Amino acid sequence: MRAPIVYLVAAVLLGATGLWVPALAQDNAAQEMARRQAMLARLPADAAKRWFGLATTPAPGPARPIGDYTKGCVAGAAQLPADGPTWQVMRPSRNRGWGHPLLIGFLQRVAATLPAAGWPGLLVGDIGQPRGGPMLTGHASHQVGLDADIWLTPMPERRLTAAERDNMSATDVVNANGSDVDPRVWRPEHRKLLEAFARAPEVERIFVNPAIKRALCREVGGDRPWLERIRPWWGHNYHFHIRLACPRNDTECHDQKPPPPGDGCGADLDWWFTQETKYLTPREPAIGPRLSEMPAGCAALARAP
Ligand SMILES: [Zn+2]
Repeated sequence: MRAPIVYLVAAVLLGATGLWVPALAQDNAAQEMARRQAMLARLPADAAKRWFGLATTPAPGPARPIGDYTKGCVAGAAQLPADGPTWQVMRPSRNRGWGHPLLIGFLQRVAATLPAAGWPGLLVGDIGQPRGGPMLTGHASHQVGLDADIWLTPMPERRLTAAERDNMSATDVVNANGSDVDPRVWRPEHRKLLEAFARAPEVERIFVNPAIKRALCREVGGDRPWLERIRPWWGHNYHFHIRLACPRNDTECHDQKPPPPGDGCGADLDWWFTQETKYLTPREPAIGPRLSEMPAGCAALARAP
């Protein structure tokens, strides 16, 4: 019986990174609302997802990430403005443009450098909820204000309307069977975009589809240490996911173990293209923790006015 071993591997991986297939990331506003209502109808009154998913304002006080990327919250979050010279925030109706001020400033700083690399600017997907925490739809992580999704679509020259931002689809850069990037879509500028983020010392990990990692392993020349931070994961063919390390000296924020040393282009990447892996699609946990099961500090933060 192979199956139990296979599922154990999936559970270990899920526990390690807290991500699953982000099939919801590119859902339009109507799809998102339907999923949200369905989840609210099923959740117990004290589910952490309910409290954090319904919070519409940040918790006051100094910026404080609390807990793990996959089980935590954030006080004093800041909102990325909907528009900047080199970014536009997508899916505004979700109200997920909130994060630790370090992340919000970081995104703006890196975005400003991108036109020089041939990328006109960022289309920013989900960052986090006003108080972080688990979400009613999508994402196991994005809970402490240090995770952000960036679309693999370059920012258009014009400002998108709110309706366009809520409904247009991102660009899938992976080919139909998942074996590699789609050469009709994948550009050198995608590589430069990922490199700009992966070289930043604040970045802990970046998650991409295995086919994107494969393309980077092939295309990147001699100076490769930044590839170590780019990790393959299910999905992530329409967007990539940036995770910042916990702020230095912050004792309430729990860092992840660093990725294994090396560029990650060997056998561990090959594993992602095996038949076995294709059946390991992780599933979204249905209900998630109760408020009382969240890290100390998060329950009070969820209920604060
Ligand atoms: Zn993400």
